[in-house]
Amino acid sequence: MSYAYDDQNIFAKILRGEIPNKTVLETEHSLAFHDIAPQAPTHILVIPKGPYVTYDHFAAEASAEEIVDFTRAVGEVSKMCGHAQAAGGDGYRILSNAGPDAHQEVPHLHIHVFGGAFLGRMIKVPEPR
Ligand code: 5GP
Repeated sequence: MSYAYDDQNIFAKILRGEIPNKTVLETEHSLAFHDIAPQAPTHILVIPKGPYVTYDHFAAEASAEEIVDFTRAVGEVSKMCGHAQAAGGDGYRILSNAGPDAHQEVPHLHIHVFGGAFLGRMIKVPEPR
């Protein structure tokens, strides 16, 4: 099955400047900004600028330059927000939802970066569909 990208999704609109955002970091191929409804003291979203729906889509079709840029942007954000242990912090969590079972709301690849509090166990107990 091929990946169908909907260019009317919220993050596509943010990338086109049609919706404002609180930018944390911008690189050639990536943008990081604060989540509008933070679920931790730090909750930052990192997105590629290219039209990718999920991580597997990005991994399959992005260029090497995009992949390096995006991977480094996520690492840089974890340091910029002070939570990376290399930055003297107590750690952070990264997470990317893909598809309905993971409750992906915005169909443009995004990595959530959470930090600033003890985040508990990895995920809550799965519920029946
Ligand atoms: P998902 O459930 O797709 O993994 O996460 C989507 C995230 O996007 C949610 O955490 C939600 O709060 C965030 N979000 C949705 N709309 C906007 C928006 O317009 N601006 C920002 N900054 N975040 C948004």
